[in-house]
Amino acid sequence: NLASFPGETKGRTLVIGATGFMGRFIAEASLDSDRPTYVLVRPGSIGPVKFKIIQALQDKGAVIVHGMINDREIMEKIMKENEIDIVISVVGGENILDQLPLVEAIKAVGTIKRFLPSEFGHDVDRANPVEPGLQMYMEKRKVRRAVEEGGVAYTYICCNSIASWPYYDNTHPSEVTPPLDHFQIYGDGTTKAYFVAGEDIGRFTMKVANDPRTLNKKVHFRPSCNYLNMNELASLWEMKIGKTLPRVTVSEEDLLAVAAANRIPESIVASFTHDIFIKGCQVDFSIDGRNEVELTELYPNETFNTIDECFDEFALQVK
Ligand code: NDP
Repeated sequence: NLASFPGETKGRTLVIGATGFMGRFIAEASLDSDRPTYVLVRPGSIGPVKFKIIQALQDKGAVIVHGMINDREIMEKIMKENEIDIVISVVGGENILDQLPLVEAIKAVGTIKRFLPSEFGHDVDRANPVEPGLQMYMEKRKVRRAVEEGGVAYTYICCNSIASWPYYDNTHPSEVTPPLDHFQIYGDGTTKAYFVAGEDIGRFTMKVANDPRTLNKKVHFRPSCNYLNMNELASLWEMKIGKTLPRVTVSEEDLLAVAAANRIPESIVASFTHDIFIKGCQVDFSIDGRNEVELTELYPNETFNTIDECFDEFALQVK
């Protein structure tokens, strides 16, 4: 019972983790790009929030399929029966290794044109955060190696930071407005990072997934309009809210202490914050490897939502 999509010309896309924070941007973008979009939902009880998300995706045309990615047989069946072309996984940090059976299933199906594993951050082969963040990177590396050794066609999305105030203890900072009482500035606040709006992560992920130039490559998102350090972010926010706020330094030692406390997930976020804003892991390398490409070189005429616009929205929310 293959679903039919009138005038179907684009690859059938399976999104895994569409009810999650990052996954929603991907699933929405897949639907917005008129691709036949399948969304994997874990069987079992679904709370009212997730129910609403699933219903909204369904209303936009998503086909819901039920299964767990760590169930190899089910995944193989789902991909075969629905003639899936592209698989995008956006499972959360605690489920990274669940993708290993999925990789086996993709190999067994043999017709998947592209697999995008759950990356959506830094180049995990380059960056070396302190623990407990390192553990997640080691798991992401393990999935990369399984993909490459299995001969699966892939693209790794290295989209850097989601556009928002980069709280050091919040896994989904774009759900929180920037501070209104004081800023916490990491180190001297001069290390730069790239910020990309969730919608743009979704939109460009879908472009990349179908682009022959990104086959078996890492794609780094480095929009120059959103290249800022903490001091610049703070000044921008002050301009939006029309007042200045005190700045408190969070030192390298402070971040390392939060990381060492090993409280999950805050300590993981603190270790990434240390890596980004103290060590400069997003900017301490140039993109010149054979197996990597920068997004704005691929699509020079595309524009990005700016951090300025993103802060405008936050300012409206706090008003
Ligand atoms: P979430 O925890 O918000 O969502 C995870 C999703 O995966 C949920 O939909 C969950 O389903 C689903 N899922 C988990 N395990 C399975 C399984 N075995 N089978 C089927 N579905 C499963 O994840 P995030 O959005 O926080 O993270 C996704 C990726 O994005 C990660 O790689 C993370 O590192 C990255 N990230 C990057 C950020 C950035 O700033 N660059 C910020 C945040 C995340 P269910 O609803 O049933 O739980």
